[in-house]
Amino acid sequence: MDLCSRGEVKRLLDKYGLAPKKAFGQNFLVNPGIPQMIAENSYSFAALKGRNVPHGVLEIGPGVGALTCRLAELYDKVVAVEIDRGLIPLLGESLAEYDNIEIVEGDVMEVDVPSFIGEKFGDILAAGGTVSVCANLPYYITSPVIMRLLEAYPLSEKVPFEAITVMIQLEVADRFASEAGDSDYGAVTASIALRADVRKLFNVSAGNFHPAPKVSSAVIGIVPHGGLTTVYPEVKDSDHTAEEIGSEALKLISLAFGQRRKTFVNAASSAYSKEALTTALDKAGLRADVRGEKLSPRDFCRLADLLL
Ligand code: SAM
Repeated sequence: MDLCSRGEVKRLLDKYGLAPKKAFGQNFLVNPGIPQMIAENSYSFAALKGRNVPHGVLEIGPGVGALTCRLAELYDKVVAVEIDRGLIPLLGESLAEYDNIEIVEGDVMEVDVPSFIGEKFGDILAAGGTVSVCANLPYYITSPVIMRLLEAYPLSEKVPFEAITVMIQLEVADRFASEAGDSDYGAVTASIALRADVRKLFNVSAGNFHPAPKVSSAVIGIVPHGGLTTVYPEVKDSDHTAEEIGSEALKLISLAFGQRRKTFVNAASSAYSKEALTTALDKAGLRADVRGEKLSPRDFCRLADLLL
């Protein structure tokens, strides 16, 4: 069964009385080259740990299974969470030939990530293997899903995924891959950077989907680094813990980008005195009139450490 041919996708949906649901962000891939590339890019991050340890992958939103089957050919175990109850029997048919795929009906936004990963991939982790996340994400919840996966773990630790390889809207991909001072840089970019590096992998045009979305897409790899100590090594000499500095930094990021046209001091003055903010900027070697969009993730951590 070619799960990526336009005709087969339509035939399967018809057979089960389904049509693509906009509310669930259903745009199915209909070019077989794309899921193959996404799966290979995802697996290449996991394979850095060696091919002789087991590798598992969590997929979010398998749809009719176009990416799921490519993942199953590379990974030892695939667990795919699908919110659309109507797709579950269809997936039972389309993926029948694979014995290393488990489909779970559910909303990823309601999954308790650490316990779910422990339950589904405990055997793989116990054997020294890896767990990754891979998805053609529904665009209506791109940032919430990514933040849910990252924020499920303490800031002081490395998020335990080899990589989160996801297809998302092109302009969101550009935003996530931007750096302080870029016009695309924003609160989510800085918050992700406290936990991971973002690599833009390749672009995908709208014609590769059924139905075609109104926007272009891109695949990114979100690769967790060692946590807050990677961004802000000075934490080891601080009186504050990585968790304290991290959560204060997230508060500063939210204030700074909540009113991005204002200087950082004005934007953050609802929560701190202007004097404290100006003193912290001075100690950090930053200009008193700096705007939040010029502050790097490390700057936010340094300021958080000084303001705590
Ligand atoms: N993986 C398929 C592909 O590449 O062709 C489908 C991708 S489609 C863009 C997004 C998929 O995510 C759909 O199957 C949709 O039903 C599912 N989905 C949407 N919201 C979800 C949620 N909150 N939890 C789990 N799956 C969700």
